[in-house]
Amino acid sequence: MVVKPQVQRTIFLIFFLMVPAGLWFTYHYSPPHFSGNWMNIFAFLLLTLVVASMPIVINEMFIFLTQWVALATFLKFGLFVEIVFAQAAVISLLIKLRVLKNGQLFRLPLNLIMFFIVSFVSGMIYYLLGGQTGPNLAHDRHSLLLAVLYAVLSYVLNQVIISFNIYFIYKSKVSYFGKDFFVETITTLITLPIGIILYILYNQVGLLALLFVGIPFVSLSIVFNLYYSSQKINEYLQKAAEIGHQLAERLNVNDVIDLFIQKLSEMLSVDYAYIFEVTGEELKLIRRIESGTVMDNDIKLLKNEGITGMVWAKRKAYLFSAKMEWRGITDRYIPSDAESVLCVPIVKSKKVIGILLLASKKKRAYEKFQHMIIDILCSYFAVAMENAKHYERTKRQSEHCALTKLYNYRYFENLLSEEFEKLTSFQRQMLSLIILDIDHFKEVNDTYGHQSGNEILCELATRISKLVGNHGTVARYGGEEFVVLLPDATKQEAYQMAEHIRQAIANWPFILSQSIDQKQQQVKITASIGVATAPEDAEDSLALIRHADRALYVGAKRAGRNRVAEYSSC
Ligand code: GH3
Ligand code: MG
Ligand code: MG
Repeated sequence: MVVKPQVQRTIFLIFFLMVPAGLWFTYHYSPPHFSGNWMNIFAFLLLTLVVASMPIVINEMFIFLTQWVALATFLKFGLFVEIVFAQAAVISLLIKLRVLKNGQLFRLPLNLIMFFIVSFVSGMIYYLLGGQTGPNLAHDRHSLLLAVLYAVLSYVLNQVIISFNIYFIYKSKVSYFGKDFFVETITTLITLPIGIILYILYNQVGLLALLFVGIPFVSLSIVFNLYYSSQKINEYLQKAAEIGHQLAERLNVNDVIDLFIQKLSEMLSVDYAYIFEVTGEELKLIRRIESGTVMDNDIKLLKNEGITGMVWAKRKAYLFSAKMEWRGITDRYIPSDAESVLCVPIVKSKKVIGILLLASKKKRAYEKFQHMIIDILCSYFAVAMENAKHYERTKRQSEHCALTKLYNYRYFENLLSEEFEKLTSFQRQMLSLIILDIDHFKEVNDTYGHQSGNEILCELATRISKLVGNHGTVARYGGEEFVVLLPDATKQEAYQMAEHIRQAIANWPFILSQSIDQKQQQVKITASIGVATAPEDAEDSLALIRHADRALYVGAKRAGRNRVAEYSSC
């Protein structure tokens, strides 16, 4: 909520014009009734400040239940003392809530004016209606009625002024008379009788009354706040469990990271999020999100380097509420406008496997209990990451050939049927297939050894992959047979590609470093290649393979090897 500077200046001006003069007037109109008993008045002030410093929290909203103390103070000591106490309570509260920093100083006079008006107007009306300071509430019904009227009036005035404040100064469009208003009205009305009891009891037993009434009240608000915060933690735990389930369902490492950060950002105020992975002696940044955008992440950190390195070394989470607290240990990557920082180790089987760092531009953005929830979420995250990595590794292994790292036969077969489906549903116009078989490979094995044969297969795989690039998919079809699937390539294009491959094999010798006699050796090999294209050569995937294979054996091998042949039905 932004308030214009000139409005802020006006607020200060009104305060200096209104409050001191109002106090002077009140002091003369209704002098304080306390016959020099400073001790008593001090005790009341203390009670006011204690109650004001213990607001109850409902739905993130602070509700201050000071009205009952104010009522007793007003009845006992008169309007002047009540005004002074209310002003003192406002000052101590705003200091405690630290709202006066960051150009929010105008909120002090604004609140002081509001409270002054409420106190002054309701007090004056009370006096004008014949109310007195020090009434006999226990026996005089009329006085009791006036006291209740005063209390209700000051509450209503307070609400009217707050809504005025929200509409005209903060220009907020949110309706004030929502659920919060309802809750506050009920709680205030419930506490009013406490004020009357305090007043009557104080008249009878003196200062002890403050303890009799104050202790139960303060204890109750502590219990209420404990209850509320445990309810809030419960809610967060439930959310965390749900996130845990969702994380477990993701099979992809990137999906797991994205979901994790998305859920964290929904739960907390997150402007910057970083996830590091421990790799050997370093921390490697694997995800960097700044103000909702994924950024480059080539950052590496060592142990004890910055907050992140410190969390890794100490295996302990750190929570900073403001920049002042972490200025000395800056991480060079954290943006300079970050204030709150929460940095947590991601632990799996008692080992730190990563670090999560969240930062917010707001001060005190993270609470202690959230830190516990994040800890739980991090362990869900660690498990989900390991599962996803395991899944990805198994999938990769099941689809690739361990020697050449090319796709294997199984993957190729699936891909071929998928591509054929696209062809039959007219998503593709053509589908070309190249099959390659090394010539006399048995002899290579016999001469240089099986290990050298393997070396050639690997080098061959690299040469073919480089040539094909993203035009198609290369797979190892069998022992020394390779296939290339070229979607939307004409037979001629496929033939040209096959010819390039043939030359890349035949024209450049293969270098062996692991041959039997341990010397580096150059070996020249050749390959025979068959090409077929669907739909012109084949109507289903098996026929396409069969026909390319036939071209390979009949057209290339039998015709003398080291050549490319295309399928022809005749
Ligand atoms: P051609 O194809 O020209 O008729 O002769 P060839 O000697 O290559 O015959 P064929 O294709 O029938 O033989 C395949 C040979 O490839 C047999 C085997 O020794 C070799 N081979 C198959 N798989 C591997 C492998 O993984 N590593 C090695 N080093 N050799 C393999
Ligand atoms: Mg073969
Ligand atoms: Mg062969």
